[in-house]
Amino acid sequence: MYDQVRQVDTEIADILEAELGRQRNQLEMIASENFTSRAVMETMGSTLTNKYAEGYPKKRYYGGCVHVDEAEMLAKRRAMALFGAERANVQPHSGSTANMTAYLAFLKPGDKILGLSLSHGGHLTHGHPVNFSGLLFDALHYEVSPDTETIDYDKLRTQALAERPKMLVGGASAYPRFWDYEKLRSIADEIDAILMFDMAHIAGLVAGGVHPSPVPFCDVVTSTTHKTLRGPRGGLVLSRKDKFKAINKMNFPGIQGGPLMHVVAAKAVCFQECMQGDFKLYAKSMVDNAKALGDALMERGFHLVSGGTDNHLLLVNVAGKGLTGKAMEELLEHVGITCNKNTVPFDKESPFVTSGVRLGTPALTTRGMGVEEMGRIAHIIDSAVQNQENQDKLDALRAEAEDLCQSFPLYPGMA
Ligand code: PLP
Repeated sequence: MYDQVRQVDTEIADILEAELGRQRNQLEMIASENFTSRAVMETMGSTLTNKYAEGYPKKRYYGGCVHVDEAEMLAKRRAMALFGAERANVQPHSGSTANMTAYLAFLKPGDKILGLSLSHGGHLTHGHPVNFSGLLFDALHYEVSPDTETIDYDKLRTQALAERPKMLVGGASAYPRFWDYEKLRSIADEIDAILMFDMAHIAGLVAGGVHPSPVPFCDVVTSTTHKTLRGPRGGLVLSRKDKFKAINKMNFPGIQGGPLMHVVAAKAVCFQECMQGDFKLYAKSMVDNAKALGDALMERGFHLVSGGTDNHLLLVNVAGKGLTGKAMEELLEHVGITCNKNTVPFDKESPFVTSGVRLGTPALTTRGMGVEEMGRIAHIIDSAVQNQENQDKLDALRAEAEDLCQSFPLYPGMA
C-alpha cells in the first residue's frame, strides 16, 4: 500500500500508514465521521481528478467531458432517486459551500436568516458571527427549551413572526432528536420565508428510511456526503424544480470554479451503495446503537441532553460527573476513544472548554459493531471517568478498546 507515494515522498507515505493504523486501532466516535468503502476511495483516487469540467453536463466550458458528464448525470439521478427530490446539484465541494449556495441563491447580503444557535446544536454556517453566514447576513438564532432541551417551536414561531427572516434554516450538528418539518414549513409559510434544511448529519438515516425526510417540506435541502451517508467528503443541494436554476447558477459560476469530478463520481458510488438493501440495515443499526449506548450511559448516571436520542448521536453533559467537555475528550482519547468536546445548551463553559462531548455511532457501526459492543463501550467510558487518576486501570481500558477494534477489522486487506 502507498508504494507509489513512498517512491516520491516517504514522509507522506509514513503519515498515510500511521493514519490507517490510528483509524484501525481507536474507537472512532466523532459523530460526523465515517469509513467510506474501498469503492468510494478508489473512485476518489482515480484519473477523474485530472479533469476540468466547469459548467454542467452537456453544457461545459471545457472539451473532453464526455465521461465525467456521464458520472455527474448518474450522481444527480441517483441523488434524486435516493431522496425523492425533484432536482440535485452534486458539485458543492463541501457542506459549507452547499449552504453558501443555498443562501446566496435566494438572499442578498444583509438579509435576515434564522437558524439554530451553534451553542444549542446548530452549525457555524447557520449564521455564526465568525462564519461567512454571519458576516454576510443579518443572522438570528433560535434555541432549545431549557426544560426539555429540545427545540421550542412555539418560541421559534413567535421569534419568526416578530423578526420575519427571509430564510428559516433547520438542521444541526449536535441535535439528537427528530425535527418537526411540518411546523417549520408552517412557520415559514406564515412569514413567506424560504425554508432550508441542512440534513448533513442525518442524511444517511434519511436515505436508509429510519429518519423522516425533510425533502417534501422544504424549498431547499443541503447536505454533506461524508457523514452518515458514508461517501466522499463533499456537499449536495436538493431542491424543487422551480428553485433549481438559481441554485445551479449560484454554485457555478457564483461560488465555485471547476467541480471535483473524482469526488462527484465517488458521490455517485456512494448513492449507489445507499440504494442497496444492506444500507437500510446499516442505518437502522446506527440508531439502535446510539440508543443502546445512550441507555447504558444513562444507567451509569450520565446526563444525555434531551434525555436520549432519535438518531446517530448523543450529546453527553459531563458537568454532573465533575468534568469539562475538554477534560472528557482527553480522558477518552487516553482510553482509545476518539470524540469531540461540544457545548451543551446553556453551557457555562467557553466553546474551547465546554461541558459536553458528542458521541456518534456511524463509524463503529460501519465496522460491524452492534448493541452488545455499545454496552462494552459504555463500561469503558464509565470506568475511565471513575478511574481518572489510576494509570494502570486506564491502560487496561485502552487495551479493552483495542481488543474491540481488533474484533471488528477495518479495511482488511489494506496493507
Ligand atoms: N452542516 C452541518 C449540519 C454540519 O454538521 C457540517 C459539518 O460538520 C457542515 C454543514 C459543513 O460541512 P463541511 O465540513 O463539509 O463544510
